Formats: sequence, structure tokens, C-alpha cells
Amino acid sequence: MNEKDLEKIVAEVTRQLTGNKVAHKASLVFPKINLGKGVFDNMEEAIEAAKKTEEELKVMPLEFRDKIIARIREKIMENKELLAEFAVHETGMGKVGHKILKHELVAKKTPGTECIEPKVWTGDQGLTLVERGPFGVVGAITPSTNPSETVFCNAIGMIAAGNTVVFNSHPNAAQTSNLAVQLVNEAAEEAGGLTNVVTTVMKPTAESGNILFKHPDIQLLVATGGPGVVKAILQSGKRGIAAGAGNPPVLVDETANIRKAAADIINGATFDNNLPCIAEKEVIVVNEVADELLYYMQAENDCYKLVGEQIEKLVQTVLVEKNGKKIINRDFVGRDATVILKAIGIDAPENTRCIIFEADENHILVVEELMMPILGIVRVANVDEGIAIAHKLEGGNRHSAHMHSSNVHNLTKYGKVLDTAIYVKNAPSYAGIGFGGEGYTTFTIASKTGEGLTNAQSFTKARRCVMAEALYIR
Ligand code: NAD
Repeated sequence: MNEKDLEKIVAEVTRQLTGNKVAHKASLVFPKINLGKGVFDNMEEAIEAAKKTEEELKVMPLEFRDKIIARIREKIMENKELLAEFAVHETGMGKVGHKILKHELVAKKTPGTECIEPKVWTGDQGLTLVERGPFGVVGAITPSTNPSETVFCNAIGMIAAGNTVVFNSHPNAAQTSNLAVQLVNEAAEEAGGLTNVVTTVMKPTAESGNILFKHPDIQLLVATGGPGVVKAILQSGKRGIAAGAGNPPVLVDETANIRKAAADIINGATFDNNLPCIAEKEVIVVNEVADELLYYMQAENDCYKLVGEQIEKLVQTVLVEKNGKKIINRDFVGRDATVILKAIGIDAPENTRCIIFEADENHILVVEELMMPILGIVRVANVDEGIAIAHKLEGGNRHSAHMHSSNVHNLTKYGKVLDTAIYVKNAPSYAGIGFGGEGYTTFTIASKTGEGLTNAQSFTKARRCVMAEALYIR
């Protein structure tokens, strides 16, 4: 047994001791992922196969892409429970019930070919149209926090655009991601016999990612993940779409419905144990209504408030020192609030959903993107101070920000100053991706490169086609 194997066993035992053992349904058997159906041994083969399929896909009618996508949606619905359990089992993060909902959202609200709108001009000089064409083979990097959701969502949008896709998924979620790749290929085969419409490698690594980044057959890179991969994509020299980290603040002013705000914030912040990049990560509240907000969070929304030394203990537990810098302790990312509380010696009620504490805006747990059901609450004197602090805490990601208020001028000012890709007003953060809010969904929100909520159109290139002095028939 080598050191890595030993580490794995220790991690598993620790996970079970700290109570995050997955309630695995006896009826569900986790599949063993074998090579085939888009899963290859090495990256070169995966790219070659996707390139070959791209030649076939590009001559197929749009109707064929629609058929594949319709079948992918069915596959997601048929396998949502298995995928949700598999992801929690493999990564140790998140909540099965919420992951099932996320899969349903992807299946039902990820748009397809309807997004690819041509543009037409006709006039005395003829007819010009701009059509949206595929890039070819897309290289997609996916996260551990929404592994299969991102593979499916990217696959639907990228295939709708006419591309094939090579995935390099997060190593900690490779099995779940690869199962999703296999299901997409099953869908494409069943819809019309096309295979390897998406491909990947059995064991994704930094090395396989590097091959993908540099390969001449990859025309577009799309990365969904933290700052490391965003930096890598921006430096790749290729066309890149970068969906990076956020640290979404939520501001509550004195005009808000405080009872509803408390419920909405905790529902958003605890969804899948705070893994979504759009989820509320810290609260800024006008002092006048702060006590009321804290009351409802505890009395009606199962929050546990830490005070004094308990907060310092939390810092020591959920952060670790690396190269002289404090970074998040991955062992607690996406874990239940009760597990985190137990780790700092607190036996909280089983139904505890979120840990809250009061702090100032410089507190490290307020500044850092934790992805844990933990919310620092910052009191401010008035809404203008709140907007300024929220702006600072968002950290320039321009990703997501939320607000509870009934004053349209305050809501407008916040939206303008924060300047984020997603801004949810008077609802939980997940309304921003179409869950309890209007509009389509995506699991790749590209704030850094400006696409915002990506859809099929984001994965196309514009092509102008001109007929001079003819084809205008008015
Ligand atoms: P992560 O950054 O650890 O990994 C994401 C992916 O990038 C993985 O496939 C990983 O292998 C790869 N990667 C990491 N560093 C790389 C590098 N230097 N070069 C090339 N590839 C690299 O992220 P995670 O923990 O899986 O996901 C959580 C992070 O992703 C959070 O910061 C979250 O906010 C962000 N996220 C953003 C979105 C969005 O739509 N904007 C969606 C989901 C997650």
C-alpha cells in the first residue's frame, strides 16, 4: 500500500466519523466506469475521436442536434438520483436531494438550438446574413462542485452549437463526470448512431489538461472552476470562455421584508451546502434591522449562531495554512453544518442548516469564498455603506450579488455599483439560474470573459454571408 492509498483510507474513515457518510440507497448500485462510450485511456485519443465525430456532426441537419439533445434530457431525468448519489459519494460534498434538483434543472432549462439566432439585412444592395457556426472541437474543464450537471449543461449547449466536446474533468469527480460523458454518448447513439460526440479520459490530470489546452485541434476552451483554471485559460493563447469563482454578497436594507429575507438567504446559502458559485457567501445588513434578521435566521431557519472564541475555532478548522497563506480546508467544503460544528466541538441539533456569526468586513471567513454552509453577518450604518462593503467583498469577480429591499432606488444603485453577471432581488440566489426565477439555466457563468450565463450561442462563431445586388425580393 502506498502513501496515497493510505491517505484515501484515512480520509474515508474521517469522513465517516464526522458523519458525512452518504445515505446510499440499497437499490442504487454505483456503476464501474470502463473505457468506451467516449471515455479514453489518454487525451490524444479522446481529441482524435471527438475531431472525427465533428466531421460527421457538422453535415447533419439541425433537427439531428435537437434529437440528440432531447435524448440527453431524458437520460438525465432517468439517471438523476444515481448521478446525485454518485457525486456525493465520490466527492464527499453536497446534498443528494439538492443535486437531484440541479439535474432536473439542467434537463429542463438548458436551452438548445433555439439560442442560435441568425441576423439578416436586406436592402438595395442585396442580402447579408450572419449565421452562427460551430468552433469545431471544444475543450471543456469542469469542476468538482457540480460535476455531472456541468458536463450535461455544456454538452447540450455545445452540441446545439454544432461542436463536439473533449472534457477534462476535476480529478476528484472523475467517475461521476465520466458517467455523464457515457450517458451523453448513449443518447447520441440512440438518437441516430453518432458516437463520441463528447469524449474524455479515464483519469483526468493536470497533464491531460495541458495537452487539451495546447492541442491544435481544439479551437475553443471553456473552463468552469476557480482562479487557477481561469488564469490558465486566459494565458492559453486560444479563444477562451472563463467561468470563475465568485464571493456573492447579499445586502439587506431597512425596507426589506426581513422575515422573507432571512428564509430566502438561508435557502440560497444552504442549497447543496453552499457549493454553487452563485450562492450567498456573506450577509451585509443595515443595523436597524440586523437583530430582526438574526432572530428569524435562528428562530425559523435552523441557523446556529457562533460567538466569541467559537468563531476563532471555526477559523482554525475550516482554513489551513499553505505557503504562509490561509486557504480553505477542502475537507469541509460542501459539508453539512452539523459536521463542521462537530469538528469545533459543538453538538448542534440534527436539523441545523447553517452556521452564522457576526463579524466586520475584514474577517477572513467573510472575505474568502468558503463553499460551506457558513455565513458571516456584517452590520452597517446605512445602505450606502452596505453597497460599498458588498462591492469590496465581491472581490472584483463581477460574478453574482443579491439584495433584499423594497426601495427601487437602493436596488438600482446596488446593481449598478456591483456590476455582476447575476443580480437576484428579493429571492434566493438560485433564482438567478432559473430555479424559482424566469429564464434559462446554465452551470457555466462566464463573468470574467463577459458571456455571462452561457448558452449555445456562446459556443458559436459569427459568420457573415453576403449576396450583393440580388436576393432582395420586395
Ligand atoms: P477547481 O478550480 O479546483 O477546479 C476546476 C477545474 O479546473 C478542475 O477540472 C481542475 O482540475 C481544473 N484546474 C484547476 N487548476 C487548474 C490549472 N491551473 N490549470 C488547468 N486546470 C486547472 O474548482 P472546484 O473546486 O472544482 O470548483 C469550485 C470553484 O469553481 C469555485 O471557485 C467556484 O466559484 C467555481 N465555479 C464557478 C462556476 C461558474 O459558473 N462561474 C461554476 C462552478 C464552480
